[in-house]
Amino acid sequence: MKLYRSIAPEKGPTKLFVGGLHGDEGLYTAPILERLAQEEVSAGEAIIVPSLIENSKYIGVLTEQYYRSEAGLRLLYLIQEYNPSFYFELHAYGKQSYARLTDPERVKKIGVPPFVDLGDGILIGSIAPILRREFTEHDFCMTIEIPKWSCEREAIKEQVLAILRIGLMKPEREELMREFRTRYPAQIKKAEELFYQYYRHQLKPF
Ligand SMILES: [Zn+2]
Repeated sequence: MKLYRSIAPEKGPTKLFVGGLHGDEGLYTAPILERLAQEEVSAGEAIIVPSLIENSKYIGVLTEQYYRSEAGLRLLYLIQEYNPSFYFELHAYGKQSYARLTDPERVKKIGVPPFVDLGDGILIGSIAPILRREFTEHDFCMTIEIPKWSCEREAIKEQVLAILRIGLMKPEREELMREFRTRYPAQIKKAEELFYQYYRHQLKPF
């Protein structure tokens, strides 16, 4: 497992970016996170893992079983070791999964809110509730699902990088949220509503 760590001169939060959590997703997330790792963190510290595991069996991150698998244990270790305040989890999905991931009935069907499309099939949402418990209410945790069929395209890669860069650049959570709301007003509003419905105001998005 490759891990990049960079520390900014200016104090700030620890930021963890992880891709390739299961199956072959690392093939799609690594090129983007490798590029992010070449950029400078402006405050705090960045830990970047382009692919947590390669060609593993696919175990969904919503299941308890995942956190007992090799990949899941690595992930829990990273979170305990670095104690991040910003956490970005990067996944990749196939075209056939789009409807399921964005299904407005997803809460009823599998107990978690649907993802919101930021545009071009780049989806954002909260992280698995099981994993969210490892963080505090003040932490920022986001899942990004990138489209497997188009993430080779430079424009898509750049758009995902632009989202991750917000995390890399911002020194605190409120600024990060403000930037997201400015860039994607309608989508973030929707994602925040879904988050509040799900966590019933026990947590702030995300
Ligand atoms: Zn995934």
